[in-house]
Amino acid sequence: MRASVRIMILALALVGTVLPLAAQTPPEPIVKVEGLRQISAHVHIIPDNSVPLVPNIGYVVGDRAVLVIDTGLGPRNGAAVYEVAKKLAGTKALFLVTTHVHPEHDLGAQAFPATTTLIRSIDQVNEIAETGLQLAKVFASRSPINAELLKDADFRKADITFEHSYDLDLGGVQAKLTAMGPNHTAGDTIVWIEPDRVLFAGDLAMRAQPAFASPRSSIRQWLASLDRLEVLNPAIVVPSHGPTGDGTGFITGYRAYLTEVRDRTAAEKRAGRSVEQAVETVTAALADRAPDKGRLAGAIKAAYAEAP
Ligand SMILES: [Zn+2]
Repeated sequence: MRASVRIMILALALVGTVLPLAAQTPPEPIVKVEGLRQISAHVHIIPDNSVPLVPNIGYVVGDRAVLVIDTGLGPRNGAAVYEVAKKLAGTKALFLVTTHVHPEHDLGAQAFPATTTLIRSIDQVNEIAETGLQLAKVFASRSPINAELLKDADFRKADITFEHSYDLDLGGVQAKLTAMGPNHTAGDTIVWIEPDRVLFAGDLAMRAQPAFASPRSSIRQWLASLDRLEVLNPAIVVPSHGPTGDGTGFITGYRAYLTEVRDRTAAEKRAGRSVEQAVETVTAALADRAPDKGRLAGAIKAAYAEAP
């Protein structure tokens, strides 16, 4: 065997062992504030660098006020996100909204001072009342760092609530907050910055596969939501996780995926197959496009329940 071939085989063997090890220890879920960058006239973000349990953080800067979107996991991340807000806002008023009530998006809110105005949809308020800190406890049990970050974390009470949508005038720029119903969670909120054509889409349109995280999550609702997002015709989509996207690519990508899951699953149900059989068949059919089998199964189960 030639030396170069042997080295190549050795390298492949190393890749085979090193990669799974690296995957077992994800980076700590800390918001890296030094990544702050401006993406449009009024919008700055701190990218999540695709680290699990870190959200993309948004700041919308107006003449009179600044809106912060999502907080990071627990008070320590929330305090860091707040420090950046203070630098961007100076003496301007501060508003806070979260894309949904999962711990990495919402449970840093208590680190913001009492003068910050927290805006929630009624759906979010209800979801907090219903599920409380359940998911926070699950996250905390996964690693010592998660437990440390979530110590004493609790939901902050809203200062303003809205049912369908809320127009927030920040001075020279408006942010439109809209409650999208049960998609990823029971209470997803999107934020649309019309003059910049920037859309904070939450988990409703991302690069990663959609996650049906609530028993209320609905594929029918999600497809209807995608139609509403597409009509906005965003120039930039900032999802709550992963890289930002230009134009409507994430939206049409999610629609193609969810439509296929819906139609294949409905066909299985019509043919008299059980939900378990449908999961097996549809998972096999989408094997090359859906690496996250857990998320795919969640979508199939929602589609099965909703199929005629
Ligand atoms: Zn989430």
